Amino acid sequence: MNQVDYLRISAIDRCNFRCHYCMPEGAELDYILRPELLRSEEILTLLQEVFIPLGFRKFRLTGGEPLLRPGIVNLVREIASLPATEDLSLSTNAFLLADMARDLYDAGLRRINISLDSLVPETFDKIIGNRGRSRWEQTWKGIQAAHKVGFNPLKLNVVVIPGINDREVLDLAALSIDRNWHVRFIEFMPIGNIELFGERAWIPSEELRQRIRSQWGSLESSDVKGNGPADVFQIPGAKGTLGFISQMSECFCDRCNRMRLSADGWLRPCLLNESGQIDLKTPLRQGIDPAQLREKVRQILLIKPEINFKQRDSGTDGELYKRTMSQIGG
Ligand code: SAM
Ligand code: SF4
Repeated sequence: MNQVDYLRISAIDRCNFRCHYCMPEGAELDYILRPELLRSEEILTLLQEVFIPLGFRKFRLTGGEPLLRPGIVNLVREIASLPATEDLSLSTNAFLLADMARDLYDAGLRRINISLDSLVPETFDKIIGNRGRSRWEQTWKGIQAAHKVGFNPLKLNVVVIPGINDREVLDLAALSIDRNWHVRFIEFMPIGNIELFGERAWIPSEELRQRIRSQWGSLESSDVKGNGPADVFQIPGAKGTLGFISQMSECFCDRCNRMRLSADGWLRPCLLNESGQIDLKTPLRQGIDPAQLREKVRQILLIKPEINFKQRDSGTDGELYKRTMSQIGG
């Protein structure tokens, strides 16, 4: 059985962007109210008393937009300083990163993943649902600040949506040539905005690789540090790499090493299947003996292989995906 040692922790479900692929258009999301959010000390208790004793060693802070969480730098510092933490990373849209990159680095964060779906401000604003002053430049400044501070690896995540940003694949791939940046193309999944998915569908990673090969020749296989399911390649001579996350065209459930903890304390064993979730916050607040919580999570770990989605259906059944990535902790 695959060792499950990686926990993605949603720091907050709110976001300052409203990416079309991540959130349903128009509909208001029910945000978690502040008292329902796991407090930092509760997250640390869960890590120390439950997850670390069960073998978890790798943690990612995500969201929503984790930089919106008050006290995020301290939370990073506390998790980074746990002796058992082997790897800590953070996913962000970088809008607030320019002012926070240095503090996050000094708090012990070394790895960062940044969503960047377009290099064209108009397209970028369209994707993130921004109608006001363009947010592209501030986001780009955040990426530059992360680069300057020295995050390594620095990964850029691109969700490729046919007819919206797929014509930029070569330009985005080119970002990996002169800098040690890792550009990852993610197949659009039917979660968050099922209507958009139905309208636009997704492009298989292999098709993107063909486009990239026709520009730069054959891609070299590469091995960059990460916990993920990305297949990693390199443009010949490039400093960085290209990753392809192909959860639609390829089932990698059998190598799944992760679980997700939502901002309100629900543990979710599989991103694409809502069964098997358990509430950790309520019993924690009721003063349960952590050993009992640990036992509950151990049971979930045992049945995780059966919960894993494994392409149970064609992936277009909206009923399966009630929560968005921003709510689950993508
Ligand atoms: N706000 C942060 C960000 O954008 O990086 C962290 C949270 S976001 C939910 C985490 C990742 O989920 C992002 O890389 C985003 O592109 C991805 N994501 C969200 N909805 C998706 C979808 N329907 N298909 C594929 N990836 C998705
Ligand atoms: Fe926010 Fe990230 Fe979702 Fe975009 S992908 S709406 S930045 S949580």
